[in-house]
Amino acid sequence: MTDLNKKAVSSAVDAIGRCKQCGSPVTPFNKVVGPTGMFCGDECKANHEAFTQRAGSLERKTGGTLFGIPRALGKILGQLIVLAIIVVAIGVVGTIFEIPMLTPFVESVRARFGI
Ligand SMILES: [Zn+2]
Repeated sequence: MTDLNKKAVSSAVDAIGRCKQCGSPVTPFNKVVGPTGMFCGDECKANHEAFTQRAGSLERKTGGTLFGIPRALGKILGQLIVLAIIVVAIGVVGTIFEIPMLTPFVESVRARFGI
């Protein structure tokens, strides 16, 4: 697939995609597929894999933080927010609709918090 003669005659018409590394058209003749994507040649594939590895090690160096919040903590915060939304939704539903079991429970909780 790295036949240079075939690569020379290939045209944009043959393009099946674009090289993930340099952006030039990829044809069936020069196509090189790697774990990180599709490339126009072995050189671009190697360059992109090196780039991906550098990016990966950079992420590890910063401790995998998101907006300065450690990723694990951010995930817990996200789950707490979702939980809070669900609790509020149950409270609203239990207040508006008379639901056996739920409404008395919501009312006792609201009474406890004075809301
Ligand atoms: Zn390329």
